Amino acid sequence: MANVRYETMLPREIRRARERMPVAYLPMGILEWHGEFLPVGNDALKAHALCCRMAEEIGGLVMPPFYWGDNRAEIAEVVFKPQYFGHLDHDHTVEMMEVYGLRKEDFEREAERSKAEGGWRLFKELLDHSLHQIESLGFKVIVVVAGHYPLIGPSRQVAESYDGRAKIMPMIGYDLVKDQGYKGDHAARWETSLLLALRPELVDTLGLKDAQRLVGIMGEDPRKASAEYGREGINAIIREARGRIAELLSQARRGE
Ligand SMILES: [Zn+2]
Repeated sequence: MANVRYETMLPREIRRARERMPVAYLPMGILEWHGEFLPVGNDALKAHALCCRMAEEIGGLVMPPFYWGDNRAEIAEVVFKPQYFGHLDHDHTVEMMEVYGLRKEDFEREAERSKAEGGWRLFKELLDHSLHQIESLGFKVIVVVAGHYPLIGPSRQVAESYDGRAKIMPMIGYDLVKDQGYKGDHAARWETSLLLALRPELVDTLGLKDAQRLVGIMGEDPRKASAEYGREGINAIIREARGRIAELLSQARRGE
């Protein structure tokens, strides 16, 4: 399989791949609790590996992922909303802090600081800046993959106000295949299946079996996850993305 990771490639290799398909993928995630059996970088790891799969199958190159710049007031460590997630019967943040060996006040202070600094402002500036930079590297379509779902709103706003010439396609993954029955979640069956398919070595499969450790999960039981279900979902996403990317690329080439 050809290398598709931009930062690891030589200029002449980049040129060859870009001239074949001037599409860049920008994977984005954050650092956030994803149960005790998934790594905290899950969202970016998942988005990056998904981008690599798309680039290998559809064409284009993958940019290094985002981990920083998000609004820290919208993470599982500080957000506990049983009004939205009926199965949350006790405050999961207490157990998270025990496992981390950290204090909830520190996460809360950081959430307040983040809000006072403008919430998503920094992320939006960083994304807008990156899109311009990627366009200057010769790409005509930029697929922005929001591994952490709350990134999709600000990403769409940035895509709408983008004043460059490249076509921007913000997506999450499951949002492209919702009508086929796939549903997004937080560290539950879907996200766990994706990581089992994409980066199995990073999933603590023993920890996953321990019901006591299923803390801060939102969605269907992650013990029902499988690499096979993950692969099926990924293939469905790639099938759907392929047509959308081709359409944007022909618009860009026609100068629309
Ligand atoms: Zn996630």
